[in-house]
Amino acid sequence: MRAMVLKKIASLEENPAPLEFMEFPDPVPTAEEILIRVSVCGVCHTELDEIEGRTPPPHLPIILGHQVVGRVEALGEKVKEFKVGDRVGVAWIYSACGYCEYCQRGEENLCKQFQATGRDAHGGYAELMTVSAVFAHVIPDVFTDAQAAPLLCAGAVGFRALRLTRLKDGQNLGLSGFGASAHLVLQLVRNRFPNSKVFVFARSEAERAFAHTLGAAWTGNTTDIYPEKLHAIIDTTPAWTPIVEALENLEPGGRLVINAIRKEGADKNALLTLDYSTHLWLEKEIKSVANVTRFDVREFLRQAAEFPLKPAVKEYDLADVNLALNDIKSKSIHGGKVLRISEI
Ligand SMILES: [Zn+2]
Ligand SMILES: [Zn+2]
Repeated sequence: MRAMVLKKIASLEENPAPLEFMEFPDPVPTAEEILIRVSVCGVCHTELDEIEGRTPPPHLPIILGHQVVGRVEALGEKVKEFKVGDRVGVAWIYSACGYCEYCQRGEENLCKQFQATGRDAHGGYAELMTVSAVFAHVIPDVFTDAQAAPLLCAGAVGFRALRLTRLKDGQNLGLSGFGASAHLVLQLVRNRFPNSKVFVFARSEAERAFAHTLGAAWTGNTTDIYPEKLHAIIDTTPAWTPIVEALENLEPGGRLVINAIRKEGADKNALLTLDYSTHLWLEKEIKSVANVTRFDVREFLRQAAEFPLKPAVKEYDLADVNLALNDIKSKSIHGGKVLRISEI
């Protein structure tokens, strides 16, 4: 099969075309696995973190891609969940142990043996991939393959971030950064918390205009003065300055949820301006979001199918994956980016 693979860790500045074509033998499913003919695969900022070494894959070369939609092509003899031809999705969670204290209490995202799709195991930038059947997800009929792909990561992790804010209807929410995840969270909040106001902080004017069309109550630059204090803020930026500013603008007891697998180092000195009474006093909280559980993926897909939430997507050919990665890095195009891999 054909795949786009990562062979070495480097920044996009050093190597603007980090993924290259490689032929692989077709994978064969084990007794518990399904073989998926990949239709589309989303491109995510986390792939930049893998490529540039902030969350490096343990083995190279590796096939990236963790927002996979395709059809079941073959199954292992013990698989009962699916049949050949079923449409399935695979998200960032490729596997977890199932018996540790975290897995037992529904926090399989924190499992020490957590494996990520397209980092610890081969992902979806390929014609075929295998995954344990219990870690594959049914895609609701209301979505096309391309619409479903960004829901599997940007949507599911955004859903988890929103859960962790503990927002109640009527409370103010801030979204710092407005990429693929935040634009889905905004739509989810407008649907589930109709009396809450959403404040969007984004550097680009196009992103701010887009946020307005989706129902943001207010938009501004990440450095603008906040017009109101906020009960919760979800940060999806790769930077530190927005963290300090967000903390200053939380209500007492408010919570900042950082939805970023790693932060970049360029403005880390901003943390030296952290002042206890201004930024932390009055029981303000900071919490990060790590990975997703299967519940996050499935519950988000269910809720998204109800309204239905249709993500804005831009499609690229698999061969143009490096262009899509550079577009994410330069933030020149809003919404989700999806690779078209095979016509099914
Ligand atoms: Zn992702
Ligand atoms: Zn576990």
